[in-house]
Amino acid sequence: MFQVPKSHPRYESLVKREKLAEGVRAGITSFQGLIAHGRGEAFDYLIGERTLPPAFEATRTAVAMLLLARHPVLSVNGNVAALVPSEIVKLSKLLDAPLEINIFYRTEERVRRIKEHLLKHGAPENKVLGDKPDALIPGLEHARAKAAKEGIYSADVVLTPLEDGDRCEALVRMGKKVIAIDLNPLSRTARAATVTIVDDITRAVNNMIRLTTELKDASRSELEKLVENFDNKENLQAMLRAITERLVQLDIIELD
Ligand code: ATP
Ligand code: MG
Repeated sequence: MFQVPKSHPRYESLVKREKLAEGVRAGITSFQGLIAHGRGEAFDYLIGERTLPPAFEATRTAVAMLLLARHPVLSVNGNVAALVPSEIVKLSKLLDAPLEINIFYRTEERVRRIKEHLLKHGAPENKVLGDKPDALIPGLEHARAKAAKEGIYSADVVLTPLEDGDRCEALVRMGKKVIAIDLNPLSRTARAATVTIVDDITRAVNNMIRLTTELKDASRSELEKLVENFDNKENLQAMLRAITERLVQLDIIELD
């Protein structure tokens, strides 16, 4: 792996790129995943590469929703596996929610490699699903519809970081609560999800770990209140306003 100099002003961004390149070399991440990351990075530049307050609020709501869930499942694709393998395993353990490998450009080889990677990072074998799909999500073409009956198919709350818009919409149509992590507040995914965290996956998952520990002992009614007071459309608007305000403060744009 290329050693990124710590003093580089874009250190964190370069480390993420290096992890993804390594993911491709290891057969975990797809080439297209690199392009998707690039689109995300562009938005992160506008956001200022930190968690803005509306994103933090969405993250807290997401954690409350996952803690209230009857059957929560965390979806893992090739970018998630390359960028935050130990973090997603940790979150899965804290929430007692299984991981389900779910990739857009599905090959059985890549699924197998992602599974091995998650096991290497401490996931228990019986908590990694998706390698033997036995159900289909209605409304998607066959390869992308594949899911585990005991996993995403029967879940009531699904965390889908970096999900495709179509799949997100299909899961919502099934009546599920879908939590998306997506740096693009304008994407179909961001607009279709029940809760959208407009933040980088690495920052968002680390915040989720912290907030899960913090909210673990909160009462159901406290958690329900957090969920009830959240409106995704308003939150996306608040995110876009926060981005604009940041650009105004930096003297990059002027609003009259
Ligand atoms: P949609 O299909 O939902 O309209 P899209 O076609 O842009 O949107 P995809 O290419 O299917 O979406 O998925 C990539 C999405 O993931 C992008 O919206 C991008 O902003 C987001 N993304 C990429 N890298 C990250 C990251 N590190 N953290 C969070 N989000 C990311
Ligand atoms: Mg898409």
